[in-house]
Amino acid sequence: MAELVGECAGCKKDIYCLDGFLNGVVTKDKEIFCFECIDSNDEKEKNPQS
Ligand SMILES: [Zn+2]
Repeated sequence: MAELVGECAGCKKDIYCLDGFLNGVVTKDKEIFCFECIDSNDEKEKNPQS
């Protein structure tokens, strides 16, 4: 069973909850991101500012 949770705030892809497993991440600001957008965000955050 797939339940539509919302759309990715980054790429506007539909995010579903599959059998209790969300195929994305909800931030503390209640924004939903798919894993692809989370990965690109993580890479930016991990890179130290030079
Ligand atoms: Zn996305």
